[in-house]
Amino acid sequence: MSFNLPPARTLLRTFKAGCLFLFVVSIILPARAADTTGRIVCRPEFAAERRQVIADQLRKITGFDKLYFDEDGALRHGDTYSGGSSAARELISSAVSGQHLLIFEDASNRDDVVFCRIVGGRWVSDAATKPPVQIVLIDFTDFSRVMGDREALAAFNVGWGVLHELSHAVHDSLDAHRAGEVGECEELINRMRRECAVAERAEYFFTFYPGTERSEFKTRYVRLAFDEQRPETGKKRRLWLMWDAVLVGGLK
Ligand SMILES: [Zn+2]
Repeated sequence: MSFNLPPARTLLRTFKAGCLFLFVVSIILPARAADTTGRIVCRPEFAAERRQVIADQLRKITGFDKLYFDEDGALRHGDTYSGGSSAARELISSAVSGQHLLIFEDASNRDDVVFCRIVGGRWVSDAATKPPVQIVLIDFTDFSRVMGDREALAAFNVGWGVLHELSHAVHDSLDAHRAGEVGECEELINRMRRECAVAERAEYFFTFYPGTERSEFKTRYVRLAFDEQRPETGKKRRLWLMWDAVLVGGLK
């Protein structure tokens, strides 16, 4: 038997834009991040290999075949595409032409980040002359700890996580409040998954893996449901991802 975790225990935990100022963090941003014409920029210390992981996954989802991070760390997507999701292309295009500067930060192994999260940033100087900034925190280690059905893994990686946070930033969309719901934000991400013919996320909140609710276990495995449409029968097939929430976080 499984039970639903209360809303505070969220996956891809984030805060809607209206709440961002409750979580303002002071970050000294690189001068060139402020000067670049890009609106999605990696922090300078963001490793090249990890930028490449994000670019590869976003290229696959969006179909933007020339998408890359330039030498200043700014995301460029070009005009051409092949396959992929039109909704994902619209979201990326809106984000890179939007009012906000979105800074990607590698937050791997941070306890306060469960997969991904977006928080408000604050310029430490000359704020009046600079665009509003939000920080997309990405925990690569959390994603590396996820296991489960191959088809569900294809629908849940750093690329999908980044798009989820960009949807919060661009559309001010909300996450689910109740167990069993997907939520406004993931509804859009599921539309992208349908356009990419990958499994859809069936719920926003994870639940304890049956039998691991008891606190004497040192590991606390949780699971997250996905559904795969089977065109030949018109039926859905339930798929699962799981991970140890003691390591990934989100239990407090
Ligand atoms: Zn969210």
